[in-house]
Amino acid sequence: MILHIPHSSTKIPDGVKFDKSIEEDLLRMTDWYTDELFSYSSMETIVFPWSRLFCDVERFIDDEPMEQQGHGICYTRDSFGGQLRNVTDEERQDIIEKYYKPHHTKFSIACNHCLSLFKEIVIVDCHSFSNEALPHEPDQDVIRPDFCIGIDEFHTPQILVDEIKNYLESKGYVVFINKPFAGTIVPLVHYKKNKDLKSIMIEVNRKLYFGKSDEEFQYIKGIIGEVLNIVDTYEGSPAIGMICKKSSLPIYWVECPYFKAYSHRNILLTNLLSFRLQDYQTALVTLKSVFFVFESGLSS
Ligand SMILES: [Zn+2]
Repeated sequence: MILHIPHSSTKIPDGVKFDKSIEEDLLRMTDWYTDELFSYSSMETIVFPWSRLFCDVERFIDDEPMEQQGHGICYTRDSFGGQLRNVTDEERQDIIEKYYKPHHTKFSIACNHCLSLFKEIVIVDCHSFSNEALPHEPDQDVIRPDFCIGIDEFHTPQILVDEIKNYLESKGYVVFINKPFAGTIVPLVHYKKNKDLKSIMIEVNRKLYFGKSDEEFQYIKGIIGEVLNIVDTYEGSPAIGMICKKSSLPIYWVECPYFKAYSHRNILLTNLLSFRLQDYQTALVTLKSVFFVFESGLSS
């Protein structure tokens, strides 16, 4: 699993000027604390370290529909259509080269690395949204869900959508699919090409946690943790059948067809991976972390 967190930062690089005070815009448009809410051990997390008001990495370089609203890679207008800042073509190009492209390169490398190790990888595109539709947003429906799941026909497994939706609804939340925000991120090089690369967007309504007590914040963080557990289990499911109890002792023996690159390493790994574990889930997590240690040992 790879967590992609594009909109959590409020930082603006030194020297970047806006035509107005941006405090309220930051308040409205930042996906506050998504880098804290979406956290999961033993995985890749790619956080864009700058504010979306300066550079939005979830926009396309060419043919970006939001460009019309002044909300392309470089925002030139605020949510209400007012002037935010003037960006020359040269400055835009500079931002693309120095900030936008390096982020996407890092993201693609992480995806490729994981794809070289695992059969299937799930990207979780992590966002939050305002409970009131912002004027620039395409969907102005006043009814907003608690969670929005963004899916892509090619890259999002239906079973994952169903499981996450069922879980959230069982906790009393209202869940919409592709509404008010649609789609989910996939590196362009793999888009509509590589079925092994899965992706799902999880958007949480900020009314659930922003400006709430620490207890309420932690509760939502726990809910999101469970959602990520569902993704992790989905990703690991090919291996579950191969984790088997070999004796009457509580020892799970882990075989490794889960990994692409198992062949000759399989022998080594199966020798390495004999654990006294209580359950499949723990076996799976251990399998993953041991494999990472093993891989980095090989490459160093
Ligand atoms: Zn966002």
